[in-house]
Amino acid sequence: MLIEGEDNMVRFGVELANACENGEIIYLHGQLGAGKTTLVRGFLQALGHDGAVKSPTYTLVEHYRYNDKTIYHFDLYRLGDPEELEYMGGRDYFHRHATCLIEWAEKGHGYLPRPDLEISIRYYDPGHRLINLQPGTPRGRRLYEHIQEKAGLYSASSSG
Ligand code: ADP
Ligand code: MG
Repeated sequence: MLIEGEDNMVRFGVELANACENGEIIYLHGQLGAGKTTLVRGFLQALGHDGAVKSPTYTLVEHYRYNDKTIYHFDLYRLGDPEELEYMGGRDYFHRHATCLIEWAEKGHGYLPRPDLEISIRYYDPGHRLINLQPGTPRGRRLYEHIQEKAGLYSASSSG
């Protein structure tokens, strides 16, 4: 999917949130500046969050709670060793009732639950990004289908 402009990336995040229930594990792949945090902003906006999203670059994780939904937003870019996730109480985050959005999940390899959905964002040109979706579970497959169905809302081309 080709995403034109930041606003459409926010909309993508909104639709992802609309498709989620609770407890989904979602990996967000992509280089610095790809648009991972922008997507998370849309996700949180859909739940009622107002304004900016603090990038958990140093804290590694930020916690949000809206109505009956718990969201953990991870940014593992600065994680030295995946084992550190144990010390920060990693396993407590990964329970059935919290949705986890994980930037730089590859840095936590071996210490993260397997993803329902992997979202890869690639830089295309200054205003465009390419998104590729990889479902990993039946639940992720349902998310994937919802997102594809709504592609007209945020994608210039709904193929791929
Ligand atoms: P990351 O979390 O992947 O490092 P950010 O979401 O923090 O990336 O930053 C993405 C940057 O790219 C923002 O400055 C945003 O305005 C810009 N941008 C331009 N076009 C897009 C697009 N189509 N989708 C997402 N971000 C875009
Ligand atoms: Mg980020």
